[in-house]
Amino acid sequence: MDQGAKIVLISSIYHSYDHYLAPEITDAMQQTIEAALDAHGAVTVFFRADDIGVLSKNYQHLMALFLKYQTPLCLAVVPAWMTQSRWEAMAEFHGKKETLFCWHMHGYRHMNHEIKGKKQEFGAIRSTRALSSDLSRGHERLTAIMGKNLTPVFTPPWNRCSPETLMLLKEKGFKAVSRSQGSLPLSPPGLRDFPVHVDLHTRKEQRAKEGWQTLLAEFTTGMNDDACGIMIHHMRMNHQAFIFLEYLLALFAGYKQITVVAFNDLL
Ligand SMILES: [Zn+2]
Repeated sequence: MDQGAKIVLISSIYHSYDHYLAPEITDAMQQTIEAALDAHGAVTVFFRADDIGVLSKNYQHLMALFLKYQTPLCLAVVPAWMTQSRWEAMAEFHGKKETLFCWHMHGYRHMNHEIKGKKQEFGAIRSTRALSSDLSRGHERLTAIMGKNLTPVFTPPWNRCSPETLMLLKEKGFKAVSRSQGSLPLSPPGLRDFPVHVDLHTRKEQRAKEGWQTLLAEFTTGMNDDACGIMIHHMRMNHQAFIFLEYLLALFAGYKQITVVAFNDLL
């Protein structure tokens, strides 16, 4: 989410149908899966939902879908947004469901600090002390609120962070980082990397046709990697975006050769 953004931007692909996905989309999605299964025999997938911390209709809808399909979901929680009362209000989704939902840390305030170039909360412009302080206080805050529900994985806002941040994560005992596929530098030994390949909701293509083509290409890339990471932004979802997500969950559930995991299964 952009800092202070008021306008919810919905990707063009979710304005391209009303209630039913076009057969060309579902056919292409199935062909993508079949090709990956032909090549590898089995496929591992994970879903990562970002910008978690505030209860909303879309959040409830998202969680209900993953419960309905009993599908694991990694949830990237913004420490500054999460409070004890918000966590208690989400109680139906933790506790007994801890094996389905993998809660982990997403930035500290989800704030951009860079002056030039791409947005980053944990970028090169910040001092070691500031980076270290935000990582520590974020982790302490979430540990105090969420206790054993917290998994030691870090998703940097906007999927990117400085090399220094990677070293600090390792020093502080984080076990893995989740960024965009192809991010450099590679994470240091001892800090695993769980990249995301597929961007379901923050796509920028103007034309839906181009958006679908690129999205399917992302699935192909991901399904040829160790685990295909699929990114969710629930605040950017409309009714059609929920239709496509439910289609994916039902589709994956129908394949014995597709295993949906969460970060704690990969550590
Ligand atoms: Zn985010």
